[in-house]
Order: sequence, then structure tokens, then C-alpha cells
Amino acid sequence: MIVLGSTGSIGVNTLFIAKEKNIAIEALSCGKNIKLLNEQIALFKPKFVCIQDEKDKILINHNKVFCGQDGLKTMIAECKSSLVINAIVGFAGLNSSLKAQKLGKTLALANKESLVVAGKFFDTSKIKAIDSEHAALKCLIDKRKDIKKLFITASGGAFYKYKIKDLKNASIKEALKHPNWSMGAKITIDSASMCNKLFEIIEAYHLYGIKQIDALIERKSLVHALCEFKDGGISAYFSHANMRLSIAQAILNTHNQSFIKNLDLLAMPNLKFEKISLKKYPIFSLKDKLLKEPDLGVIINSANEYMVYQFLAQKAQFLDIAKGIFKALDHFGVPKINQIEDVFEYDKQVRLYLNKEMK
Ligand code: NAD
Ligand code: MG
Repeated sequence: MIVLGSTGSIGVNTLFIAKEKNIAIEALSCGKNIKLLNEQIALFKPKFVCIQDEKDKILINHNKVFCGQDGLKTMIAECKSSLVINAIVGFAGLNSSLKAQKLGKTLALANKESLVVAGKFFDTSKIKAIDSEHAALKCLIDKRKDIKKLFITASGGAFYKYKIKDLKNASIKEALKHPNWSMGAKITIDSASMCNKLFEIIEAYHLYGIKQIDALIERKSLVHALCEFKDGGISAYFSHANMRLSIAQAILNTHNQSFIKNLDLLAMPNLKFEKISLKKYPIFSLKDKLLKEPDLGVIINSANEYMVYQFLAQKAQFLDIAKGIFKALDHFGVPKINQIEDVFEYDKQVRLYLNKEMK
């Protein structure tokens, strides 16, 4: 298989499973973590690798190195493997998702941003989602036709216990302290702001075609999704908070081998479901608007990504992330997305706009 974003949190867990199951790795890619990539090259001996910057090429212990977005597309096309794991973070993952589907390869997709910005351009029936809530939903939905509503859960992120007034001066270190999951910086910030849950709502819509969907806070991340049926019943999906489960479900054909332990039901803490406070997490208030106009995903994603990296570079405060998103939405309104090129153009324009406006 091909593992893109192999040095990240999902990438490393995917390679753990590959090693356990003896799955051959034809290609690896990463952004800037050259040291870890070299270690992975030594261990998995891929035929091809791809890195973000041409200038790092000299540091790679491999003789077939592609670079940048064009390099990713060429590399995917040259590979014989039919399975592509896309664990690149952010908008930078879109080209690879599109290319994998265009070539008829199976896309195991952690890069939820691909669906947030361009869900309508994918045949999502052929996508295997690597997101704990969506893997759980898939198990719950199965072939049921009598679904009333879907729920995904949120941990509440790093700021669950914070008062709204304390968010103003929240530091990067505080925002990166996720209570239950160990993930890359960008998605950890998205969890603190609840933007991740907004993205997962639209991700679920694109994957399963259901607009009756909401999110609830479940602090322990032991229930990942729930499915409400018309007959009055509700099914829930329980598991430990460990991404190896949803990665294995996406990339293996059988579910016979476990990579995590089953939950000990008798040792489980009390569980509680809570409403998401829109005062504290204003970005989540965009849920209904986004479900009505999924093309808004392009604007929200670009604005969020731009602002999150401004925050991580100490050029913006935590609350500026939401401000930037609402400002971009006010300015651009509902984008006209007729072809995939429009997605790339809006992404560029939103970043240019915020670069000018948020100084
Ligand atoms: P991460 O930051 O740990 O890893 C990201 C990977 O992408 C790294 O290999 C990095 O080198 C690479 N990368 C970054 N910028 C790049 C660029 N411009 N071009 C090429 N490669 C680039 O992130 P992660 O936590 O592993 O998340 C990856 C994706 O999976 C994200 O879209 C995230 O939302 C999604 N996801 C993650 C988790 C999780 O538990 N970590 C859960 C669900 C979904
Ligand atoms: Mg998730």
C-alpha cells in the first residue's frame, strides 16, 4: 500500500499495523520530518518516497524521491498498489485524494479536509474513512433503512473545563493538551475549538448521505457514535480511544485480528452526554448552515487552517480562529463551486483575504 503523511500520528499507527500484518509498503510520503522518514525507509524499503520541499531531497536515503504536490500525484500514478492511505494534514491532502480516486484506487481517508472542501467531487461509497466516529457510524448504520438521526461524540477538547473569559489568553501549550487522544497539532487545536466536530459532521454527511446528524460531548471518548432508529431504539459504539481500531477497519479486509483491547465494561466510568455550548464553541454554531450549503466547507476550512497556523506561530490568539472564520464567511458568502478548480481558487483567495484583514 501507499502511506501518505507517514510520519504523522495516523501515519505511524498505520505503519505499526503494516508491520504486524506484514503488508508491503510501496510508497511513503511526509512533509518535513526527514529523520523519521529515513527510519521508515530503512524499515519498510519502499520503492518510492515523496517529500514536501525539494531542498530536503539531499537528506533522503533513497534514490527515487518525488517532491511537492506534483510529486505526490506522479508517485501515486507510478505505484501498482490499489490502496492509498491519505494521512496528510490539511488542504495539502486534497490533490492526493483526488488522484487516488481518479486512478480507481481505494482511498483510506484520514485527511477529512478533502471531504470538507470537496466532498461532492468524490465517490464516497468507495472511501474507507479513518476517523473513529465515522468508522463507528459505519458499523452502526450497516444496512439499516430506518435511521432517524446520527450522533457523533466530542471530548470537549483541551478547554472543556475553561471558563469562556479564560479562552482569550489561552496559550498554545494549553490548547495542545488534548484530554484523550494523542494527535497532530492542527487537529488538536481543531478539537479545542470544536472545528474538528463541525468538520466531522459534514464528513459524515458526505460519507453516509444523512443530514439528520448532531454531536454531543462525551468526556471519556469511550462512546464514539450513536444511531437513533425510527422504532425508538438507539445503538451506540463503544471502544477505547485508539486510532488503530479505525485504521485497521479501513485497511484490512477482515476484522479478525485486534490491535486494541476490548473495553472492560465493569471497569467503565459513569458516562454522560452533554450539549455543546455554542457560546464557548462558536464555530460549532455553523453546523446547520454548513449542512444546508456544504460548499461553505471550502471557506471554513481555508479560514480555519490559515488561522490555526497563525495561532501556532503566535501571530494570533486562540479566539481569533473563530473570528477569522466568521470574517471570511461574511466576506465570501456561499461560494460558487462548479468544478474542482474552483475549490483551489477559493482556498487561495480566502488565505489572501485573511492575510490582509487579520493583521
Ligand atoms: P500529523 O500532523 O501528526 O501528521 C501529518 C502528516 O502530514 C505528517 O506526515 C506530515 O509530515 C505530513 N504533511 C504535513 N504537511 C504536508 C504537506 N504540505 N505536504 C505533504 N505532507 C504534509 O497529523 P495527524 O494527527 O496524523 O492527522 C492527519 C490527518 O488525519 C488529518 O487530516 C487529521 O484531521 C486526520 N485525523 C487524525 C486523527 C488522529 O488521531 N491523529 C484522527 C482522525 C483524523
Ligand atoms: Mg474523529
